Amino acid sequence: MANVIKAPDPVAIPVAGSDDTFPVNRIFCVGRNYAEHAREMGHDPDREPPFFFEKHPSSLLFAPAPDGAEFPYPQGSEDVHHEIELVVGLSKGGNDISVEHAFEHVWGYAVGIDMTRRDLQGVAKKMGRPWEIGKSFDNAAPIGMFHAITEAGHMAEGHIRLDVNGERRQDGNMNAMIWKIPETIAYLSALFTLQPGDLIMTGTPAGVGPVKKGDILEGHIEGLSSIKVTVT
Ligand code: MN
Repeated sequence: MANVIKAPDPVAIPVAGSDDTFPVNRIFCVGRNYAEHAREMGHDPDREPPFFFEKHPSSLLFAPAPDGAEFPYPQGSEDVHHEIELVVGLSKGGNDISVEHAFEHVWGYAVGIDMTRRDLQGVAKKMGRPWEIGKSFDNAAPIGMFHAITEAGHMAEGHIRLDVNGERRQDGNMNAMIWKIPETIAYLSALFTLQPGDLIMTGTPAGVGPVKKGDILEGHIEGLSSIKVTVT
């Protein structure tokens, strides 16, 4: 038996301080998981259960600081936004994972940016269409080095921020997540059979905004390796 076309390359993210990699399965993303961001997008954070979308693993762009990576301005959009987010990587899958056992399913963490074609997402929202073209496109998920939970610990709080050209644009604390990491894992596992290698992007604090060619984005989360993206 042979593949009739070239098989896609497996996607794996390097682990900090080692030659190891974290192999990626799916990328789940939580929408509006910080109250101030929900408000800046015109929503009431108190009345909404969590909701999810996915980015395709081929949209990952490995961009560890200090060198980072180039992010070619995406086609089809004139309003691309940055959203700094904590990325959770799962070591174990399962269904109906309880909140109290959820951290046992986490391998580690990385810094990520949920790049968003906001204009296309806006049209999709207005028309009741999927967010796919606004969220899952080439290089739409820049990501930094992975850190094991054994080293980084459980991420319940910590500074999360993003600078554009040296100016602070997003500045928050992960303790402000509406749905905490264990709750998100539990909720997702009631909808999907989670699998090892699944990533969860956990939402962005307030301060999202547009990027333009030439911009340098630097993202930082307390305890993790930083990320750097140059828009070209
Ligand atoms: Mn997001």
